[in-house]
Amino acid sequence: MQDQGKARFAKMLHHRAEKLKKGEPVAPPLISATTYHLPEVEGASHIYGRMAMPTWEAVEAQLGILEDAPCVAFPSGMAAISAALMAVLTERKRLIIPSDGYYVTRVFSAEILAAYGVEVIEVPTAEIATADVSGGAVVFIETPSNPGLECCDIALIAQRVRTAGGLLIVDNTTMTPLLQRPLDLGADMVVAADTKAPGGHSDILFGHVATRDVELAARVRNWRKLSGAVPGAFEAWLLHRGIETLEVRLERMCASAQVIAERLAAHPGVTNLRFPGLASDPSHEIASRQMSGYGFLIGFELPSGAAAEAFLAACPFITQTTSFGGTHTAGERRARWGDPVSEGFIRLSIGVEPVEPLWGAIAEALGNSG
Ligand SMILES: *Cc1c(COP(=O)(O)O)cnc(C)c1O
Repeated sequence: MQDQGKARFAKMLHHRAEKLKKGEPVAPPLISATTYHLPEVEGASHIYGRMAMPTWEAVEAQLGILEDAPCVAFPSGMAAISAALMAVLTERKRLIIPSDGYYVTRVFSAEILAAYGVEVIEVPTAEIATADVSGGAVVFIETPSNPGLECCDIALIAQRVRTAGGLLIVDNTTMTPLLQRPLDLGADMVVAADTKAPGGHSDILFGHVATRDVELAARVRNWRKLSGAVPGAFEAWLLHRGIETLEVRLERMCASAQVIAERLAAHPGVTNLRFPGLASDPSHEIASRQMSGYGFLIGFELPSGAAAEAFLAACPFITQTTSFGGTHTAGERRARWGDPVSEGFIRLSIGVEPVEPLWGAIAEALGNSG
């Protein structure tokens, strides 16, 4: 992480302190109240739970410091993504999305947005920088993409989209605001699933939208209030706690991922390894320019679907789950979801285990799955 990012993180950790009165709790209280004392509406800090709750506001304050932008909290990453898209696809009717990105975004666009008259165009992440973005399109990118870990140049795309009168949304889930800063690179909006590394303990769904455009932020907030896609207080409270250790967890996860990616790449049974931190990776150059860490996700192939399943089953330190960014190293064979990847492709999310025992377990399981 860059020095500025570290300073932001330190400030975030103390964000409540300056407002505390003597005797108040340092950790934010979990307030799930739906109603607030309201003898008159004028001047009330809170009115009704669907409009705002103190516990989401604590998380929005944290995220706002990390993003350096107003943030709107949502009950999941998809709730944030759908809110951002619904808020901007009003007069704009053309949407470009990655063909190799998070698959639910594609399904949402194809099944819901298309039914509302939106023209949805899928473009591979590696080709979005040269795609036709004319006509005031909404361009949605994900870099590195999940699961293929393909990167695209955010600043270049932002400039092309802006010149064409369009709008750029970046799904920053795989990086978090600590490792990549799309708004600083010219994006109009960031969306993210805090379900992943920010929550970090595989026990909450959460998401947010960040934008420095006051009018866009107001539209997204209004969408949340009217659609009712509001986060729960308990989830917000857990996320607030999770975010406090995000920086130390990411530091361990990224450092371990680098070690494990290098060793996997050198392993004779492993092919087509993708990790942006390897100098040989096709995304290394772009990643080095726009990311301040290479993340904790690794993609690679074993010779067959069966070999991949056997490897995952044999490794005691890989949980077989479909998410990423948690404390436990997790892995899965993505072809089981119909992702456009080979049968033996595995996505690994490196956790916070000490790296040598983790590598020992992976190496042994690779031997056994041979
Ligand atoms: C997980 C994920 C989402 C969706 O998040 P949920 O909290 O599961 O709704 C969106 N984008 C990316 C890149 C993801 O990995």
